[in-house]
Amino acid sequence: MPEEIRLRDVVEMRRKHPCGSVLWTVTRIGADIKMKCNGCGRVVMMDRVDFIRRRRKTVTQGPDAPEVTLGLSGRAPETPHSETFGGANEQDENEGDAT
Ligand SMILES: [Zn+2]
Repeated sequence: MPEEIRLRDVVEMRRKHPCGSVLWTVTRIGADIKMKCNGCGRVVMMDRVDFIRRRRKTVTQGPDAPEVTLGLSGRAPETPHSETFGGANEQDENEGDAT
């Protein structure tokens, strides 16, 4: 999964909120990520690194896609411009759920 954060993302966090919900909606993206609990409406802020670490997955990706690169735009999509993303496998697979 790409470490992508979009406005209006609905994300599932590794840890349950005290209200019982694991779903949050991203309401603001900046140096810090602001998100709102889908269960109780509480808003919290955390930095990107923390957010990505605590996020289990993105449930619904937000509509805020400034540039959608599907190869459909005017520029010749045929060019095999190989882009290698090196450190993409730095994933925290540690399931630290102490339920
Ligand atoms: Zn909550």
